Amino acid sequence: MCETNQRPIFVTRPSMPPYEEYIRMIKPLWDSHNLTNMGEYHRKLEEDIKKYLKADFISLMTNGHMALELAIQSMNLSGEVITTPFTFVSTVHAIKRNHLTPVFCDINADDFTIDASKIEALINKRTCAIVPVHVLGRICEVEKIRSIAQKHRLKVIYDASHSFGETYKGEHAANFGDAATLSFHATKVYHTLEGGAVVYHEKTMGDELYSLKNFGIRSETLIDGIGANAKMDEFRAVMGICNLRHLDQEIEKRHRVYEKYMELLGGIEGLTLPYIQKYVTSNYAYFPVLFDRDLLGAGRDILYEELKKRGIYARKYFYPLISDADCYHTVYSSKETPVARKVSDSILTLPIYADLPEEEVIRICQAVKEIIKRG
Ligand SMILES: *Cc1c(COP(=O)(O)O)cnc(C)c1O
Repeated sequence: MCETNQRPIFVTRPSMPPYEEYIRMIKPLWDSHNLTNMGEYHRKLEEDIKKYLKADFISLMTNGHMALELAIQSMNLSGEVITTPFTFVSTVHAIKRNHLTPVFCDINADDFTIDASKIEALINKRTCAIVPVHVLGRICEVEKIRSIAQKHRLKVIYDASHSFGETYKGEHAANFGDAATLSFHATKVYHTLEGGAVVYHEKTMGDELYSLKNFGIRSETLIDGIGANAKMDEFRAVMGICNLRHLDQEIEKRHRVYEKYMELLGGIEGLTLPYIQKYVTSNYAYFPVLFDRDLLGAGRDILYEELKKRGIYARKYFYPLISDADCYHTVYSSKETPVARKVSDSILTLPIYADLPEEEVIRICQAVKEIIKRG
């Protein structure tokens, strides 16, 4: 329960475009009565995002989960897929729902992405793909993963839900792999209320994705696939068009919040702050910190509860590990990924969003320091 009368601070708060700007664009849409099925705004948003990302091809979807599920489905795979247990459930569900078998690889202790040096030991003749995640906005070891995939002829589908707007060596994160999937959920750095997309490089994959997101319907009389329905509607496409215009500015505002945290929380023994990876421009989507229980006395869970009492709603991203989730733990054990287990037990993501006022960052940092001091 909240024992404070101060305004609650949640881990994120969706960005909104100026009201007038959205309404101005909605008016002709409203009058047209053309609300869905790859309409004018849907096509414009695809073009806008393609341009922003300098991507080869993109297919918009109703959400990030369906983007991943259908991207995997479009590749006609069977067998085992190597992925990470340190992610949002959607990643692993998308593999399972394609009747594939997830195989969990451990993660790097510093950036929390899949540990590329441990992938090859998990490859066997049933392995068909790797689904790495640019988790919490940290870019995977894309070069190493590419060469492993080439050597063993595996597909690579990145779950890039956290990394919209980020680049590695000047290339947008969404452009790595055979395909990468994006989430435009309201809680992500860039959103369309709900929404998602697949970024891909082979034109033929686009035909397959189009069919899969539209009931397998190719034309009025040709239905040659067993597709789902994962189309994005026009109102959400307009939200996406508006939000994209403001994205760089929103990221810059997040950057300022990030810097304030770094300044106020620096130098506390046992508290590991995030860092920006080499060659990466960040979108500052998350502010994950690690609590070393042995050095601090106060464990992550105590901190989480104490912050909550003060109206500060941090999140345990990602705890539990997906291998420990009720629907997976009878088959998997997190003991097999000890680094992921340790990170998952000690991580807390603090509130960060573009309009988080400096006073509130100060209030959060004071609370963290006070709780740690009490032990
Ligand atoms: C948000 C998210 C998804 C799912 O996206 P939705 O748009 O909510 O369906 C998938 N993977 C990761 C890592 C996510 O954070």
